[in-house]
Amino acid sequence: MKDVTDIFGSLVFDDRMMKACLSQSVYNSLRKTIDEGAPLDVNCANAVAEAMKNWAVENGATHFTHWFQPLTGITAEKHDSFITPSPDGRVMMEFSGKELIKGEPDASSFPSGGLRATFEARGYTAWDPTSYAFIKDNTLCIPTAFCSYTGEALDKKTPLLRSMEAINRSALRILRLFGNEEVKSVKTSVGPEQEYFLVDKEMYLKRKDLVFTGRTLFGASAPKGQEMEDHYFGSIKPRVAAFMQDLNEELWKHGILAKTEHNEVAPAQHEMAPIFSTTNIAADHNQLTMELMQKVADRHGLVCLLHEKPFAGVNGSGKHNNWSMATDNGINLLSPGETPYENAQFLLFLSAVIKAVDEYQDLLRISVASAGNDHRLGANEAPPAIVSIFVGDELEGIIESIESDNSYEGTKKKTMKLGAKVLPRFLRDTTDRNRTSPFAFTGNKFEFRMLGSSASISDANIYINSAVASVLGEFADILEKSTDFESDVHTLIRDTLIAHKRIIFNGNGYDEAWVKEAEARGLSNYRTTPDCIPHMLDQKNVDLLTREGIFSEKEIKSRVETTLENYSKTVLIEANTMVDMAQRDYLPAIEGYTSELLDTLIKKEKYQAFAQSGYEKSTISKLSALSDSIASSSDELSHAIVKTKGIASEEEKSYSVRDNVIPLMQSLRAFVDEAETICSSSYWPVPVYGDLLFSVR
Ligand code: ADP
Ligand code: MG
Repeated sequence: MKDVTDIFGSLVFDDRMMKACLSQSVYNSLRKTIDEGAPLDVNCANAVAEAMKNWAVENGATHFTHWFQPLTGITAEKHDSFITPSPDGRVMMEFSGKELIKGEPDASSFPSGGLRATFEARGYTAWDPTSYAFIKDNTLCIPTAFCSYTGEALDKKTPLLRSMEAINRSALRILRLFGNEEVKSVKTSVGPEQEYFLVDKEMYLKRKDLVFTGRTLFGASAPKGQEMEDHYFGSIKPRVAAFMQDLNEELWKHGILAKTEHNEVAPAQHEMAPIFSTTNIAADHNQLTMELMQKVADRHGLVCLLHEKPFAGVNGSGKHNNWSMATDNGINLLSPGETPYENAQFLLFLSAVIKAVDEYQDLLRISVASAGNDHRLGANEAPPAIVSIFVGDELEGIIESIESDNSYEGTKKKTMKLGAKVLPRFLRDTTDRNRTSPFAFTGNKFEFRMLGSSASISDANIYINSAVASVLGEFADILEKSTDFESDVHTLIRDTLIAHKRIIFNGNGYDEAWVKEAEARGLSNYRTTPDCIPHMLDQKNVDLLTREGIFSEKEIKSRVETTLENYSKTVLIEANTMVDMAQRDYLPAIEGYTSELLDTLIKKEKYQAFAQSGYEKSTISKLSALSDSIASSSDELSHAIVKTKGIASEEEKSYSVRDNVIPLMQSLRAFVDEAETICSSSYWPVPVYGDLLFSVR
């Protein structure tokens, strides 16, 4: 393999390339645009476009595209070639500043939740200069935001950038109060750990459920699952190792800081974690990572499954969103400091996050809701659907002593109790891990673990950022009026921790007892997508999102619609696939084997001497009963699908999916899975769990 430092970023128009390809003055204006959001004048834009195009063409690109993230959750691109006719009948490769900055894809077929009727299909994409352009498949990809002509966000990047601005505004106000005048900006950073499964491509192609829905809709458990715990961190099999090496190389070329790789808990499950970066870049990179994983897998005769629950009975896949806030001069605001004064600042930011997560726990749950993720959350694996925060024993102790200061109020001096008394004992604790917590403090960052593996990380970060920005804003409102800053900071931290300690839970999140206790604490527990999504429109959530400038009320409504629509569509495609497989694959296979058994039975009875035919008789009767149940249950499911599809309101439709369609899918599956365990494997029409989970060596 080539030197990693040489290939890293070779397909990215990064700062190094900008410096090399642009004049000093153009570079300076572009830098100002990237760092401070200053507008770029036409001449500069033209110069940047020209340099980008030359670089891209030198590296084999023929086309360019505005690369954006519509509400489908995946990325979209429409390619245009650089060619322009030249007077001599040939062509020139051209690309203007106008084309760089703005694009107008025909947007009529992207989900908009009613924001843009199809007859007014125009939407536009706008360059995000903070995320570097890159080359993919001979195309120069320009990361962009996607908006309607009236300015409503139709994508995930726009609100994410808005939420980053919101946190920047509020965090700066707090830092100024602590006397920090140097910091120019505060940005959130994210390191998303990505889980995935690898299966053999030939087997994958034989399973309509995997092809159409990304998960197995049928399948009895294999004799072996994950019970031996021999896969987690186990040695990596040669085919997988070759895939990982190839993937790393692709990621590095695209400037993605791929760092860690290992086997995960379930057989055939793996993980890749990059080094963290600024949130909107991390979001772009994670989208690109998921795409490259699938492409690279294909080159190795494999398929990369990013679905949250590809297999029943073994762990599903998630994405851990490691989140922190840092200043432009590199100070992590979630890192405990050296001095008591710094620690007061740390504790203020920490308590802001605690309050934000408590007050907007429903929005966090909403941000990870999807049909796929419903299989994990609240299903005894990964974190539960209840949002809570793990802080570890040490911070818990500190929080307790801050609270109990309260009772000493009369006898002790008020000043700087925080610093002098409590904090010098503070040690950074990164080892204490609680794997079941949805929102865990891990030393200098929070790890939000509820995200599904296929999700865009944008959603979760939009809500975390907005909620924290809002609380920091409230804190700033209070403290800017303060006449005794140290004492008021102390009181604010203490009052906040007391008011929101119900969200802190350091125990086992999988425990049934926690569900009861959480209920007693008044925490919400939304098990499914239709349970939580409508709460996006709760007044407090609308107030938060509009106040922080993240969404207009209209935009929130459109997100509610599209999320519910996406949920129903996903499940209905699964249900259709099940009916198809039951009727066209499983029933004929079962009938085939039954008929062979019948032949044997008839033959045996003909030759009286071999009249022992107990196996045939009992199996025939079991299989006949099962095929009847499969047939009637798939008919019932078909009817439920038709009925549900006819419902006009997305909300009502999602309830019908949850209450009518999904239970019927589960019973149909149970019959087929039982038949699988007694039917001859030579008749079974698809590869089974054992094949899918253990064949990649
Ligand atoms: P785990 O044991 O959960 O796999 P790691 O320590 O390997 O955790 O880190 C996981 C992710 O957290 C990595 O992507 C890493 O870059 C990221 N990370 C580390 N520090 C920060 C930080 N300050 N802000 C955001 N992400 C971070
Ligand atoms: Mg982790």
